[in-house]
Amino acid sequence: MLTSIFEFQPETYARGLKHRQHLSVGETVALPVLLARGANAGPTLVVSANVHGDEYEGVRAIFEVFEALDPAQMSGNLLAVPVVNPPAFWAGTRTSPVDGANLARVFPGDAKGTISQRIADAFGRAIIAHASMYLDLHSGGVKFRMPSMVGYAAPDARGRAAAEVFGAPVIWGHPTLDPGRTISFAAGLGIPWLYTEARGAGRIHPADLGMMTTGIFNLMKHLGIIPGQPEPATIEHRLYGDGNTDAGMSATQAGFLMTHVQILDDVRMGHCLGTLVDLVGKPLEKYYAPVDGVVGLVREFPVVQAGDPLFLIAQREERGK
Ligand SMILES: [Zn+2]
Repeated sequence: MLTSIFEFQPETYARGLKHRQHLSVGETVALPVLLARGANAGPTLVVSANVHGDEYEGVRAIFEVFEALDPAQMSGNLLAVPVVNPPAFWAGTRTSPVDGANLARVFPGDAKGTISQRIADAFGRAIIAHASMYLDLHSGGVKFRMPSMVGYAAPDARGRAAAEVFGAPVIWGHPTLDPGRTISFAAGLGIPWLYTEARGAGRIHPADLGMMTTGIFNLMKHLGIIPGQPEPATIEHRLYGDGNTDAGMSATQAGFLMTHVQILDDVRMGHCLGTLVDLVGKPLEKYYAPVDGVVGLVREFPVVQAGDPLFLIAQREERGK
């Protein structure tokens, strides 16, 4: 019999030790919860991965960091959920095979709703709510290519400062945030947040794994949970703008996508980003950059259904912003 996730009280666990738990959400789903409880009091960094079931870099990064930590040397805690969306994880799909939901669009969830709504409710109330800072590890998954990056709330100096020391080659500041995401739930509680993206493709690129493990350690140093100073990387690209994949250019019909740009390419308004063709190669639609900017998302899985997001254009941050 598993403990209900709502009975999980991190502060009741023994200090100076690591704790591994499976906590039940309803009758059918258990969330894996890792707690490295520092010997001394301090802030709690909450880290999650696999909100989308086809994103694996963060799962491994959490396992590797948790293994390496020595709670006897910690002032504060790491609280991590390596697989937030077990039904999608086991199916290898971005969205839930049970209710079809995108878990990153249903927060704060509903304790009496579908399984994705119940996971969101439990994860938000029982895990994110404990955070002094929250980090959600995403990647491009099977179908998208994203920069290896960390995203932050542009108006929040705490998030900006954390993004600067995270160690990602690309940082992306977002002026606004749509509701429904893990990070918008955290923001609603006043908790500073970051998220990552990475290459994806259903594989774990060593550079992306390194960015995520280094990033978690750097945040723990930044917060004073572990000793030492963060070791930030050179920031090669500073992006600005809306990062919601649902708000980019989408296909209006099914077809085979031929892309004409790479991630992080600079494009002018009107530049042709890709062509959707039918199965005799006849063009069905073309996609053009709606503004000058930099390519922030590319759909790389070429088989496309109506409504699938294909491209997203971000801005380079203006000097002095
Ligand atoms: Zn994701």
